[in-house]
Amino acid sequence: MAQLSDDCFAFGGPMMSVDEAVGLITTRVNAIADIETVAVIDADGRVLARDIAAPLPLPPFTNSAVDGYAVRNADLPESAERAFPLDGRIQAGGLAQAPIKAGHTARIFTGAPMPPDAETVFMQEDVRLDEAGRIVVPPGLKPGANVRPAGEDIPQGHVALRAGQRLLPQHVALAAAFGLVRLDVVRRIRVAVFSTGDELASPGEPRAASQLFDSNRFMLMAMLRRLGCEVSDLGILRDERNALADGLKQVAGSHDLILTTGGVSTGEEDHVKAAVESIGSLVLWRMAIKPGRPVAMGIIGGTPLIGLPGNPVASFVTFVHVVRPTVLALAGSLPEPLLPIPVRAAFTYKKKIGRREYVRSSLRRGEDGTLEAVKFPREGAGLLSSLVETDGLIELGDDITRVEPGQSVGFLSYADLL
Ligand code: AMP
Ligand code: MG
Repeated sequence: MAQLSDDCFAFGGPMMSVDEAVGLITTRVNAIADIETVAVIDADGRVLARDIAAPLPLPPFTNSAVDGYAVRNADLPESAERAFPLDGRIQAGGLAQAPIKAGHTARIFTGAPMPPDAETVFMQEDVRLDEAGRIVVPPGLKPGANVRPAGEDIPQGHVALRAGQRLLPQHVALAAAFGLVRLDVVRRIRVAVFSTGDELASPGEPRAASQLFDSNRFMLMAMLRRLGCEVSDLGILRDERNALADGLKQVAGSHDLILTTGGVSTGEEDHVKAAVESIGSLVLWRMAIKPGRPVAMGIIGGTPLIGLPGNPVASFVTFVHVVRPTVLALAGSLPEPLLPIPVRAAFTYKKKIGRREYVRSSLRRGEDGTLEAVKFPREGAGLLSSLVETDGLIELGDDITRVEPGQSVGFLSYADLL
């Protein structure tokens, strides 16, 4: 398990910017060193544990990029057509029987190895047959055209995959192209998830008239799984200090991270702070971010705890900026900064200076074809519909005070957040 010191999340300032939060997390959280070996297909979404140097060049041999006719560079016509007698045929997976003879051409197919001494391929669409059955090629083709030299993609020995890479299907493809069967990956990060609040009922249980079904726990567990975590669903803790403390204490030793939602504001019924302080240490990060409220950062027996706000949208946005970098740091993942894509605002918006805001928005194509962001009509941090009916978040930096239609703004797609 991760062992962190009690004061590792201490922070001096009254307000913390998102960049400061991410910086603090990435420098203070220690990566888990445990490695496991998985089949290449099961490595999708996992964090690679060791660098991989290409054990062979890609492509492994020089081959034709097209269906066509292979010739020697010395025979390439410069200014007039030239007719070549046909001699030999090489299919993908086959081998040339003999080196190509001077002044001759061989039929060759995409992916077939080049015959010895041939360096250039004419596309079949560019040649014609003469009456004698010879292949007539046009002048002016560049030497080496339509050929893929061995190692042009990746030379042998090149470090093609880095430790800390979160593997996508294209990385899985590269490992397979190297002939690898199994990969060493970081073991899954174990996260304990609790909701807190007397007003919550779990789906499937009876709901009292004053209760609502717990949705955050399911959202957070789903987000964690997308980040490759192994999640323990620990249900709902009541708004009571001792019950909270007992629940949290029980899971600290067996998890890499504890995640809670709700109960971190400063009302009398927000008990997470007192509960954590009774069994570990806790700081409230007042982050300069909207939606969002204080986020609790704590340590219980060396295990980090993150307490997210209860309002679903605040919980979602703070997850992205606090939980995501923490999970990536625990997994030893290379930094994956979120890079908003410029789109055109199709809305007006006023904001306070000095904090970052996230505006739930849908994308559409404007009349001139440019992508436009349309703001969700309402702003409440409790509106789940605002997350369901939009495509992502417009990120408005600290210095921005208003947005006018037509202005360029940065868009983060929900699909890119996890
Ligand atoms: P809190 O942060 O505990 O003050 O909660 C803020 C708001 O979020 C309240 O309206 C809660 O009912 C709501 N809330 C808290 N936890 C959850 C949850 N797990 N699922 C859905 N709504 C929640
Ligand atoms: Mg609450």
